[in-house]
Amino acid sequence: MASNGRVAGKVALITGGGKGLGEATAHLLAREGAKIAVSDLDTKAGKAVAAAINKAGGEAIFIQQDVTDETRWPKVIAQVKKKLGGLHVLVNSAGIAIFGSAEDTPLDDWRNVLSVNLDAVYLGTQHGIKAMKDGVGSIINISSAMGLVADANLAAYNASKGGVRLFSKSAALHCGQSGYKVRVNSVHPGYIWTPMVSGALATIGDVDEGRKTLDAKHPIGYVGEPNDVAYGILYLASDESKFVTGSELVIDGGYTAQ
Ligand code: NAD
Repeated sequence: MASNGRVAGKVALITGGGKGLGEATAHLLAREGAKIAVSDLDTKAGKAVAAAINKAGGEAIFIQQDVTDETRWPKVIAQVKKKLGGLHVLVNSAGIAIFGSAEDTPLDDWRNVLSVNLDAVYLGTQHGIKAMKDGVGSIINISSAMGLVADANLAAYNASKGGVRLFSKSAALHCGQSGYKVRVNSVHPGYIWTPMVSGALATIGDVDEGRKTLDAKHPIGYVGEPNDVAYGILYLASDESKFVTGSELVIDGGYTAQ
């Protein structure tokens, strides 16, 4: 698809940019003119995404990062600014999912999910605000439909994603009240076919059967694809959404309309 330069001149840092939603977002924002810093725990995946963007004529770097490590955040942001000349967009997409009910989720799983999905979004948002508050910025936190409605077998995940939703609103209010031109929004995808979902299904049974079950949970009749979400993120990253902050963008094939 031809580029319209919707984020031309911007620099975007995308956590979890090596796979799934982060990968699709990195490619789309690059096609629309942004310089991209792909951050991921997985060096091989992240490097491959940055290389593919560069090969396609875009500009991208890879930075290895565990988003739960507080000490890495200022270093990563400093590297992005030095190598790409600024920071205008932060997409917090890194995340994990572990099945478990309120009754049987082990404390280790609970802490792991909350640490990656919520603590790290808080860290990224905090450091992102500090890095962008003297200019114009957009922070996009990937929550989930599971941050709006619950599943009996996703207790920790629901808690983390619900937390991302309200934390993002609090951050948006703070930026507005402080006079910062930094917008903060959350995105709420339904099930999207990514390594996270296929991998989770593989741990509990047949992947094809699991996909059919997930398809049927969406009124539109199927699970989404990564670009369905990436286009929403592109809008929030661009100046087209300059009046949008503290909002929750639901991209879920009707999942939460039921
Ligand atoms: P994915 O597993 O396909 O990709 C996630 C990426 O995050 C991976 O590359 C992984 O290496 C990276 N990552 C994991 N832990 C990390 C850490 N500690 N530090 C740095 N990187 C780390 O997952 P996805 O489906 O693309 O999910 C992306 C985001 O979207 C997640 O926050 C997820 O919860 C959310 N989400 C996904 C779906 C879905 O159905 N796929 C739906 C709603 C929300």
